[in-house]
Amino acid sequence: MPNPHVTPERVAEEVRAALATTLRTDAAAIEMDNSIVNGLGATSIDFLDINFRLENVFGIQLATQLILDHVEEELGEGKAIDKDGKVTPPAAEMLKLYLGDLPGIEAGIYADEISTVITPAVVADGVVRVLDTLPETCTSCGASAWKSDDGAKVVCGAEGCGRDAVYPNGDELTKRWILDTEGEKHLFADA
Ligand SMILES: [Zn+2]
Repeated sequence: MPNPHVTPERVAEEVRAALATTLRTDAAAIEMDNSIVNGLGATSIDFLDINFRLENVFGIQLATQLILDHVEEELGEGKAIDKDGKVTPPAAEMLKLYLGDLPGIEAGIYADEISTVITPAVVADGVVRVLDTLPETCTSCGASAWKSDDGAKVVCGAEGCGRDAVYPNGDELTKRWILDTEGEKHLFADA
């Protein structure tokens, strides 16, 4: 369910701000659909830094593992990445379902190259996926009184509570998504 306390615009704005700070560039110049690696020169360390900033702003935990690593863990070694380090056909299909049909995602690309297709919009999607799992009620006091004073961090509005909302973490959500998607589409069934 969409999180009523944090708008997609706010998420996009914070993704731009995190990228701008980490990569020392102008937030206004960042295009949501450009490759972060190719367009802005981000390294894997930069991604950690960007995620860390977003986690602090929204009070969430983003996935630390790449989706293909999760696919291998859940569905079996060699299912997503072949012995040459290339993405298998069912894994490419799953990536397209997860990331959207971005240019550059196809079977046979090197798994290492997937980071080059990540855009600010993909990062924003990852944040929204977590935010949309806001539980019905506060895990601390059981009240259903969420509010957000800054439009980013959701806290319990019940008197005497005020605790931060606790979301499932990004890795957990990715795993769930993989199992649900495979259960529905059977991408790896014959692979
Ligand atoms: Zn509470």
